[in-house]
Amino acid sequence: MKNEVFEVLSRFAETEKDIPLSSMTTLRIGGPASIVVYPDTFLAFDQIMRYLNEEKISFKVIGKGSDLLCSDERYDGVVIRLDRHLHHTYFSGNKAYAEGGASVIAFAVNAMKCGLSGLEFASGIPGTVGGAVFMNAGAYRSCMAEITERVLVYKDGDFVWMTNEECCFSYRESIFTRHPEWVIMAAEVSLQAKDRNEIEELMEDRRSRRMASQPLEYPSCGSVFRNPEGMNAWQLIDGIGYRGKRRGGAVVSEKHCNFIVNTNSASAEDYIALVNEIIELVEEKYEITLVTEMEKFNWK
Ligand SMILES: Cc1cc2nc3c(=O)[nH]c(=O)nc-3n(C[C@H](O)[C@H](O)[C@H](O)COP(=O)(O)OP(=O)(O)OC[C@H]3O[C@@H](n4cnc5c(N)ncnc54)[C@H](O)[C@@H]3O)c2cc1C
Repeated sequence: MKNEVFEVLSRFAETEKDIPLSSMTTLRIGGPASIVVYPDTFLAFDQIMRYLNEEKISFKVIGKGSDLLCSDERYDGVVIRLDRHLHHTYFSGNKAYAEGGASVIAFAVNAMKCGLSGLEFASGIPGTVGGAVFMNAGAYRSCMAEITERVLVYKDGDFVWMTNEECCFSYRESIFTRHPEWVIMAAEVSLQAKDRNEIEELMEDRRSRRMASQPLEYPSCGSVFRNPEGMNAWQLIDGIGYRGKRRGGAVVSEKHCNFIVNTNSASAEDYIALVNEIIELVEEKYEITLVTEMEKFNWK
């Protein structure tokens, strides 16, 4: 990546060079990214995007990196992070607004403090609002699609509000998964007034259920595989005898076998080897093709 790119981007935002993707993902795996930018206004963001598009420089928005499996290779492009500055949340009546870089957990906690219910399901999802809208994150039979009214999107050089219908949400997908060149700048969600203590209790209940069932003590990217229709991916993985299976530092969690955790500086190669073995063996035994829920980024 040319020095000039760094110099131009630095005019509009804090910019860093050669930052390991392992430091930007919850799985703690990934080679270096040539440049990372942290815009602090929509104007600066717009200028950065114009420059990258004009110069045809590849870019990737990373939220909290909680759904990514990055390769060990260098990413010779620009990572854009909204979570350092563009993370504000606002509440007015039954509506709540969050910038794309806002933490989903903070959004849910702030909503609870305002006596607004609807985000409890998301109070343990360790991503950003942008990342959650992108893949229609969900838990406990609720998902972003159910509360999202509108999404402010940067597309084709403009900021445009898209309605819920226009977002084409489905299970862990949306129109954004088909348009990685668009960027989610903000979302408006609809919530309901409710007793704050009741909301807090439900969130606490969800939190203890996660603590009891997920290996949160290790780096991970959450559930590795989507649940096939009417089934649980973890049961299929258990069925092929892979609970506790290890490849290098990557281990299928004993506690929840749809989590593959990084126990000891796992490489991306260790991790993907386990993922591929599971897909192959599940296919062989059950004739079901598991699809990953996490996204592979920067793989040749
Ligand atoms: C312990 C743990 C538990 C989890 N539990 C759940 C769960 O219960 N339910 C669930 O659905 N997920 C869960 N996840 C997965 C993950 O937290 C969610 O998918 C989350 O929505 C990802 O958000 P992120 O900001 O980290 O996105 P990233 O991982 O940074 O990015 C994921 C994708 O979103 C894109 N993206 C991110 N921000 C934007 C933006 N502003 N505009 C456009 N594209 C963007 C990225 O380019 C990338 O393609 C869990 C993960 C962990 C580690």
